[in-house]
Amino acid sequence: MKIGILGGGQLARMIALAGYPLGLKFIVLDPDINAGAAGLSEHLRGAYDDPALLAELAEKADIVTYEFENVPAHVAEFLASHTTVYPPANALAVAQDRLLEKNFFKDLAIGTAPFAAVDSLADLQRAMPEIGYPAILKSRRMGYDGKGQMVIRSADDLESAWEAMQGASSIVEGFVPFQREVSIIAARRPSGDIVFYPLSENQHSGGILRLATACHNDAEQAMAEDYARRLLEKLDYVGVIALELFDVDGRLLANEFAPRVHNSGHWSIEGSETSQFENHLRAILDLPLGSTQTRGYAAMVNFIGGLPETKEVLDLNHAHLHLYDKTPRKGRKVAHASLRTDDADTFRQTLLQLTSLAERVDDS
Ligand code: AMP
Repeated sequence: MKIGILGGGQLARMIALAGYPLGLKFIVLDPDINAGAAGLSEHLRGAYDDPALLAELAEKADIVTYEFENVPAHVAEFLASHTTVYPPANALAVAQDRLLEKNFFKDLAIGTAPFAAVDSLADLQRAMPEIGYPAILKSRRMGYDGKGQMVIRSADDLESAWEAMQGASSIVEGFVPFQREVSIIAARRPSGDIVFYPLSENQHSGGILRLATACHNDAEQAMAEDYARRLLEKLDYVGVIALELFDVDGRLLANEFAPRVHNSGHWSIEGSETSQFENHLRAILDLPLGSTQTRGYAAMVNFIGGLPETKEVLDLNHAHLHLYDKTPRKGRKVAHASLRTDDADTFRQTLLQLTSLAERVDDS
């Protein structure tokens, strides 16, 4: 069985690593000669919308999945007309467009920050009395890791924020005064079976995820599962999904969802009985989903822009290093370390050491 993946970065790499024990083979399409998954799979090198390469991918792969959501609609349609593609194209269409996504949440009675569509400075000015300050202006498309976003603190910022969007169709959102950010990762099979991971509590800075920690018996788990189930069922979804949420006084507001494996679930490799990567493969192959039970305390720290010495991480008992085979560059995720232990004190102490290591090499 050969799995095709659109994109050959670290997510494809970790999907492939999870698939080898199941006897799976992989083929990735990625323009980068040094794509992180290239060494672990057959590599079709070229643009994501190259018709000849897409035809080759569809022909060689038994089933196609992807590691990023900004797959052009015509590419998803082409692949879907030639082979099985999971997650489904409608999930991509919604996740790619912040306005469609927010309206989708609204239709499912999932709470969000107040929002409004903005296609001109006049739209923005009209929306602000209802949205309130501070607010965030975000481009509807092609935004990730906080890119294409401007914070609006007062009416004085409106013009410059709109100019920074360079005419891109946008949405403005009220700034959510959250206590914490969490995500829920879930997997669904074509038969409708669903498994949920425990909530992950996530710390971002500069819009980029730095630290993700598995929660235990979290008070908000049931609400997050309910939201994720509504999304999965409405989309007739197959594969792993990640829903990012703000926790405001015990109420969860949806920020966005990713129709793919997610950075906030990397701790599941060592920290869960079955990782998100293995469950993604099980889901798209319509195999029984694995237990998402956590094994003790688990967390993950991203290395951004720079790498620690391998031995510095491995020196820390219970830490595991995952290198993505990427050249360090400013703001680029190049590796992560995860931590898993049954002892709460050891967990806290080692996590502090790992986060200070990550801060030292971080150049963003
Ligand atoms: P996004 O690209 O939408 O995931 O945003 C990146 C990060 O910016 C989020 O993880 C939050 O830390 C922050 N952020 C985005 N939207 C909001 C909002 N409406 N209120 C408060 N913080 C936000």
